[in-house]
Amino acid sequence: MQMNTQAVVIGSRDIDEEDRLLTLLSKDHGVIYAYARGANRMKSKLAPTTELLCYSSFVLFKNKDRYTVDYADSLNMFFGLRRDIEKLSLATYFAELSATIAPQSEGAEDFLRLLLNSLHLLEKEKRTDAFLKPVFELRALTLAGYMPNLIACRECACYESDTMSFFIDSGELLCGNCMQTRNETTVKPIALPRGVLAAMRHIIYSPFERLFAFELPSEGLQYLGSVVEKYLIRQTEKSYGTLEFYKSLI
Ligand SMILES: [Zn+2]
Repeated sequence: MQMNTQAVVIGSRDIDEEDRLLTLLSKDHGVIYAYARGANRMKSKLAPTTELLCYSSFVLFKNKDRYTVDYADSLNMFFGLRRDIEKLSLATYFAELSATIAPQSEGAEDFLRLLLNSLHLLEKEKRTDAFLKPVFELRALTLAGYMPNLIACRECACYESDTMSFFIDSGELLCGNCMQTRNETTVKPIALPRGVLAAMRHIIYSPFERLFAFELPSEGLQYLGSVVEKYLIRQTEKSYGTLEFYKSLI
């Protein structure tokens, strides 16, 4: 059965001298694996359009659970990302994270849109790396079913207090008063400054059109980046080689 879908190549592995196995984040089927036969040949039409991070319109052939790429027409190669090792490594981490948590065997239009917009803003330098990383991570987690509950304190339901503490295990908040009276002290939460909590709420709850439209001073962004990364690693229970590589560069 032949089918069309748009997808970003989020993983690419050489199977032998001629063929590649691609991981695709596709609009209509989420994360899928597809063989690109002959893509490693110099003159193959599939060679450029099946590179990591290429966004292409694919014609796929599905036989049982196995997809093969019949044709791919490039929509955006993100050339600008390939000229800068830091940007490329952050983009490659976004790809690995997508391959790990994006929906499988179901439509993933929202996730694809998040990835494409993040890659675009990164390439065109419309937002900094320090801004894009936590925004992509937290919104991706939200779409993938790891959304923390940042509406209010889990005990008294207050919306704001001088310090709100965040638990990376449960994704819940506790206000200053409830923190003082709690008995259990083995799990240490992270204190969230007001600006950081507001940014996290924005990333999770804002409509997509406004997702990238907020500002936070650089110390706040750094703090946000550290909290979100801790939450992500805790929740997905995985370490990311591409993330370690990115961090070794900055
Ligand atoms: Zn409370």
